[in-house]
Amino acid sequence: MYTRFGQCLVPVNQAGGCCTAVSLGHGAHQRLTLQRTSRHMLGFCVLPQWRLNARVRSACRLVRNKAFQAHQRVARYMLRVSHASVTTQGEQSPWTAKDKSVKEANDSPYKHTVSLPETSFSQRANSTEREPQIQRFWEENRIYEGLYEDNSRNAEFLLHDGPPYANGSLHMGHALNKILKDIINRYFILCGKRVRFVPGWDCHGLPIELKAVQSARSNHREALDPLQIRLLARKFALEAIEEQRKGFKRYGVWGTWNAPYLTLDHQYEAAQVRIFGEMFLKGYIYRGRKPVYWSPSSRTALAEAELEYPDVHVSRSAYVAFEVVDAGKLRGIISELEFDSFRVAIWTTTPWTIPANRAVAVNPNLPYSIVALEDEQGKPCTLLVVAQDLVETLEQKLHRPLSNKKIVPGSELVGMTYRHPLYPMEVYRVVAGGDYITTESGTGLVHTAPGHGLEDYNVGLRESLEVFAPVDDVGRFTSDAGPELAGLPVLQEGNARVLELLRSSNALLLEEKYEHKYPYDWRTREPTIVRATEQWFASVRQFRDKALEALQSVQWVPPAGENRIRGMIESRDDWCISRQRPWGVPIPVFYDEDTGEAVISMEIIQYVSEIFAKHGSDAWWTLPIEQLLPASIIQTGRRLRRGLDTMDVWFDSGSSWASLSKSHGEGSSSSWLPSVVADLYLEGSDQHRGWFQSSLLTSVAVRGYAPFRAVLTHGFVLDEKGLKMSKSLGNVVDPSEIINGGQNQKKQPALGADVLRLWVASVDYMSDVLIGPTILKQTADAYRKIRNTLRFLAGNVPRWDETCPVSVNALNDANLPSLDRYILRRAAAVLKDIEDAYKNFTFNRIFQSVLRFCVADLSNFYLDIAKDRCYVAAPDEPRRQTCQATMWAILMDMARALAPILPHTVEDLWQCLRKDGKLPSGAPISIFQNGWYSYVPQILSDEYEDKKWTIVREVRELVNKALETARTNGLIGSSLEARVIIYPHARHVEEALTSFDPSNGVDDLRYFFITSQVDVVRCSGNGESPGAASETHVEVQKAYGSKCARCWNFSETVGALHEHSQVCERCVRSLKHLGVERV
Ligand SMILES: [Zn+2]
Repeated sequence: MYTRFGQCLVPVNQAGGCCTAVSLGHGAHQRLTLQRTSRHMLGFCVLPQWRLNARVRSACRLVRNKAFQAHQRVARYMLRVSHASVTTQGEQSPWTAKDKSVKEANDSPYKHTVSLPETSFSQRANSTEREPQIQRFWEENRIYEGLYEDNSRNAEFLLHDGPPYANGSLHMGHALNKILKDIINRYFILCGKRVRFVPGWDCHGLPIELKAVQSARSNHREALDPLQIRLLARKFALEAIEEQRKGFKRYGVWGTWNAPYLTLDHQYEAAQVRIFGEMFLKGYIYRGRKPVYWSPSSRTALAEAELEYPDVHVSRSAYVAFEVVDAGKLRGIISELEFDSFRVAIWTTTPWTIPANRAVAVNPNLPYSIVALEDEQGKPCTLLVVAQDLVETLEQKLHRPLSNKKIVPGSELVGMTYRHPLYPMEVYRVVAGGDYITTESGTGLVHTAPGHGLEDYNVGLRESLEVFAPVDDVGRFTSDAGPELAGLPVLQEGNARVLELLRSSNALLLEEKYEHKYPYDWRTREPTIVRATEQWFASVRQFRDKALEALQSVQWVPPAGENRIRGMIESRDDWCISRQRPWGVPIPVFYDEDTGEAVISMEIIQYVSEIFAKHGSDAWWTLPIEQLLPASIIQTGRRLRRGLDTMDVWFDSGSSWASLSKSHGEGSSSSWLPSVVADLYLEGSDQHRGWFQSSLLTSVAVRGYAPFRAVLTHGFVLDEKGLKMSKSLGNVVDPSEIINGGQNQKKQPALGADVLRLWVASVDYMSDVLIGPTILKQTADAYRKIRNTLRFLAGNVPRWDETCPVSVNALNDANLPSLDRYILRRAAAVLKDIEDAYKNFTFNRIFQSVLRFCVADLSNFYLDIAKDRCYVAAPDEPRRQTCQATMWAILMDMARALAPILPHTVEDLWQCLRKDGKLPSGAPISIFQNGWYSYVPQILSDEYEDKKWTIVREVRELVNKALETARTNGLIGSSLEARVIIYPHARHVEEALTSFDPSNGVDDLRYFFITSQVDVVRCSGNGESPGAASETHVEVQKAYGSKCARCWNFSETVGALHEHSQVCERCVRSLKHLGVERV
């Protein structure tokens, strides 16, 4: 028999001294052994805390010196102090005999009568081997699938996976996301729900297309046709999926990994086209020439979610004066002022849009000044109109005085006409804009180019302005911009040329650099432009109200998410769903070769959807056009060509609710679109703009309701300093390195998936979360504490088949010792807290509760005291049985409570308990099959008892301090050599300490304090203690009597008992129970 119990980890500092001690130790019989451990465990010395006296320290030093000599690799070794009687592995170390206490223990004739913990649940997780073994166990026994198929489970819980992009390796954001999902799924599985988690991947879109094209030989790239690009892109996506799938599975995430949903699946594409069709049928899809964000570098339209705004962007902004042709309502005023020239001043940050100018907009409610501008010689030369509040600013910028001649309301300006500064033959109007025109910057008169601005476009609609955008796909002026500009790129030379032309026509008042936010293409990191093109749109304005209404039925966690998405939907524009790239789902539209007219109908959409279901969307390119069209269209004899636009990838992933199906019936190919609503969507908070929104819009448009009941968001993962992770900063934490260790295993040891998962559970993920070496080390320490606690419990619960099986019923017995009832009440409270936290998704509360309970309540208190009962008492003695029943219930409930977070660890534990015969014979093979069952009885709260125990634990702290002092002074070695005398400072303390009935062999102060004798000095009648001190005082003396050779307690009965002359009367009774006559 060999067990490693009775130990605690003592970190050894660089000088070789023991620093602090942590729990778990029984030193009744101890011996030093040296054990080789893995490389990363260097510098740990294992000792029982309360045995950490001078003698052990010196023994420890001795051992360390021996280790240096013997192996010269002491860093790789761990020192262990363990029970002499447990070690029978025959590796006798030469130095052990030199330690007196060790020799004594080895020589004890009673060592075989002491019960020691026994478990196959190892101290070290050995995660790189054990976790994959456990995952295989789940897979081979179909544990996850079986739990879903189990018909006794009625209610279903559906967490719909947001598809990660099938591109690149997994990073911490992926790990955080999928592990959170798995924690939630496993919790609901334990609660008896049917959980089927179908992971997804987002496979189309430009980033994959670009990488695919790059993978082709450079001289072939230009020649690739759409089908070749699609073939490469598909291969690229599927490879990335394979790699990511392996990673997710290694995290221990349960799901139908062999049947995920992919946005490139035939059925998926078909369903997506059906959603498009339904929206078309409802009149929500239209084609229009409208300004959209356009990326010249990617040659495609972009969605808002595809833009990023770098911190610094500097534009060449310009103040430009347009010559007024007709002053309209101001005609009289202007002629009175007798100036030759009258002009309206505008300001723009994009001078290249001036060629597309079709109006100047003013705010009718603002006051405007008519001012006289002086020329360089100081002579007033022209009248300008500027918002009154901006006159001073403009004066400073121009370094020229502007003398005010007249103030008029903005409404008086409406109707004036002006000459286009670049095309003198063209005359346009001053129109009324909206409240978007303010006096924060510029001139209060807004240059309006409906082809290049969203506000401008709306003004243009109202005022019937031309949507003019003389810019091509790569961002160059077309010939429509005139010979001076044609062919020039608008963001570079084109912009400069416009400024030159304005200067030479005397229209440019001032050019200045202007720093502001400007949208960039998030993939190419190049600036975008706004440009009107022919695109397909989903008319959000038509179902916006419905979408906003649908939001109300959704639970948002954290609640601020609702306002965030609400604001975005309220202010958003129609959704441009077409892209000019081949790697996507085609928009099922044909165009008339003769007229250019778009040909689209429900019949066509359904027909194409069926083709996609069978052949996939490649058919759009591979099949001849006659096969893509229903017979009725072909019969018309029109000459048609297929459209080349594909759908925005947000439309792809936003259609994923159509892949959801109930376990029974729905979702098969026969049904049109499913009515399933997911219980939960869980993604990063940036998805309010992305997937949450696109999913909501398609679902509301087609079905009239939201696709989710609840939406949970998490923040981003940053480094320990709160900085974004980047290769250049060298602060990237790779989840697979956390699990498997880094290149330098000393610096980055393999911590396993459960430590990664524990980190996920430990962070407040609703805001941004931090990770780095220090945090990981703390998490690994916490993991070890939890694992050691579970291991201690597992070692001390009895085998189920022994003569005295665990009787959980006994826990409800009124005669249960006060100590056991107290710890069960604590456990029940902690478990209640944990359950609430699971329901509220606040996993960091679980982490904190579990850790506090393991360290403060169990290791340092209950288990510390329990060792004596478990080791020394005979198996059929009630004081041992009640303790074991208590530990069994706590172990079962703790394992269950931790199962969603540490599935490998608790499954390992469960398997070990089974193997060791410590589970009832009918126990299921996996802990996940055992359900969310509570073994800790719901003992009613008992305030009086709790108060009493709070006092006892406070006094226990004082006793421990006093014992430490006595030990340092050399008065005692072990705490069992002590007798403590307590002087309570108040009546309630005295009452608490003296209220226990020690006759059960448990509720005795000397056991609580792990000393041999305790005396409580009675208070005098007035409630004051004899010394009238403000604090309870503890005195330590040498214990009376002699040391019992079996339990090491000191007792005056040792030597007085006839049968066993070396042991105490308590041990004599235990020995009788054990049937040991003499030794
Ligand atoms: Zn004894």
